[in-house]
Amino acid sequence: MGEIKHIGVLTSGGDAPGMNAAIRAVARNAIFHGMKVSGIFHGYNGMVRGEMEELTLRSVGKIISHGGTMLKSSRSEEFRTKEGRKQAFDHIQKLGIDALVIIGGDGSMRGAKIFQEEYDIPVIGLPGTIDNDLFGTDFTIGFDTAVNVAMECVDKIRDTATSHDRLFLVEVMGRDTGHIALRTSVASGAVAVLMPEDPMTIKELYDHLMYLKSNKKSSSIIIVAEGNPNGDAFEVATKLKEMKADYDTRVTVLGHIQRGGSPTASDRIRAAEMGAHAIECLLEGKRGVMVGIINQKLALTPIEKAVNMRSGFDQELYRISTQLSR
Ligand code: ADP
Repeated sequence: MGEIKHIGVLTSGGDAPGMNAAIRAVARNAIFHGMKVSGIFHGYNGMVRGEMEELTLRSVGKIISHGGTMLKSSRSEEFRTKEGRKQAFDHIQKLGIDALVIIGGDGSMRGAKIFQEEYDIPVIGLPGTIDNDLFGTDFTIGFDTAVNVAMECVDKIRDTATSHDRLFLVEVMGRDTGHIALRTSVASGAVAVLMPEDPMTIKELYDHLMYLKSNKKSSSIIIVAEGNPNGDAFEVATKLKEMKADYDTRVTVLGHIQRGGSPTASDRIRAAEMGAHAIECLLEGKRGVMVGIINQKLALTPIEKAVNMRSGFDQELYRISTQLSR
């Protein structure tokens, strides 16, 4: 394999705060090492359609504090097809791009792996998703911000819950994992958390609420991950009502607000470290790996493993949360 001279970088799938910090780190470190770097717009769609532009030291300036992604993102049906990926390869070849850094979630990593296999081009993945559901890193870029945003919302909801002695069910993102739900719950002092990984049934939740009532707790907050097996927050509220839980109950769905906002310091710093390391990896001849941070140290995981293995659920934090929510 020859020397890498021109990097292409894109953000794909669900946007996440900190993606901009990652783009900046990739671009600046590539330029630092004498390489050219092109931003590919709208995720894989931009590769298929040839939407690319050179990034300079200045063009990635003043983005570190911005949520979202300056390169835009998308979900690309075209890239899922062989013809689409062929068009994508033709475009990057025409521009002279000889390595890629893909910032995104597990779907984006799957696409990266297939593309590298088909076209033998070095690819490095960076975990950019609020879901924290990639194996090979303790925290994905965007997760910490999403938890902080959710926590701040719950703090506000608590004011009104307390004033009116209400039970609030707050739904957070997490179709397949309860990472956001669990950390939001612990950070905001919720009385319970319902997650896909959580065996808690409605009956157990009801019994817990009755216990709290008997202990003179007049208002409560429950965090509901959208993918928990009991249904969404509205369904959980209905089921509690059917069990005659004597509460004035309200539901708040946080939705896309969790994706937005200025990234936290942790997300910016992780994005900077991982983004810079992606370039170092390419210089060292590495390919097909995702950069992560495990136990506060940079770590590499084959992309195949990152997408096929499940990220660990924090059982210890869950155990502690059940002891504190009383
Ligand atoms: P995320 O990266 O946030 O998990 P998606 O699952 O939507 O988001 O994946 C982002 C994009 O990655 C998809 O729209 C598609 O273009 C590409 N992708 C995902 N899985 C594959 C696959 N098996 N083959 C090719 N491309 C894929």
